[in-house]
Amino acid sequence: MPSNVTRKKLVVGNWKMHGSRAANAVLLSGLKDEGPWNADVAVCVPFPYITETAQALTGQAVAFGAQDCSAHEQGAYTGEVSSAMLADIGCRFVIVGHSERRAYHHESDQLVADKAKAALAHGVTPIVCVGETLAEREAGQTEAVVKRQLAAVIHTLTHCIGEVVVAYEPVWAIGTGLTATPEQAQAVHALLRKQLHAATQKADAMRILYGGSVKLDNAAQLFVQADIDGGLIGGAALKAADFSAICRAAS
Ligand code: PEP
Repeated sequence: MPSNVTRKKLVVGNWKMHGSRAANAVLLSGLKDEGPWNADVAVCVPFPYITETAQALTGQAVAFGAQDCSAHEQGAYTGEVSSAMLADIGCRFVIVGHSERRAYHHESDQLVADKAKAALAHGVTPIVCVGETLAEREAGQTEAVVKRQLAAVIHTLTHCIGEVVVAYEPVWAIGTGLTATPEQAQAVHALLRKQLHAATQKADAMRILYGGSVKLDNAAQLFVQADIDGGLIGGAALKAADFSAICRAAS
């Protein structure tokens, strides 16, 4: 990284489809006791809990966001939530292209890119997830897969690509307890950064997060890598002390 560029670490909790009003209150009050940290911190929570989360985080340096958005602006799309709505309730971030949505909802690279574009149009920062399956890694396709996924977003956003956050999440490491080694993760992050360099002058300022079974005992080794700018945290984001320890490791 050139010496004039500093990237503040970003740690984002992905609560997935977990939580209840009671459990969230405990978690958010725990975070209040644990913070602040010397890193940017956010939580992406289920849609019904966003507003209450926003209220609970008032006055704290923890941003909030959603885990998906529609690619459409508005209209007859039953069940979908637009990025305009997310912006309306103050969301700072939205995760797009999480591997669980790619796998279970058959989201294509282009749909993910369109969602990222819709989010940016409303000032909500998309956290664009890319990552290979175990079969793809074993077939030597990791580089081709993540580059293809990111290329769709680059081509769709063109000069705005510098505004997104990228998250490298090897599918085989999500929720499995398997983590990419710091060297494996860094290698992929470096090639993603190189791809971003070819698309934008902002590449050195962009944050590329690692996600996949990040825990307090492996976070520091991951975050010290040159191109790992923080983490997207699933399971370990559900306990205030664990999430806080990871935020501290990024500080
Ligand atoms: C995720 O859901 O984005 C994730 C990284 O999950 P976990 O940390 O549980 O592997």
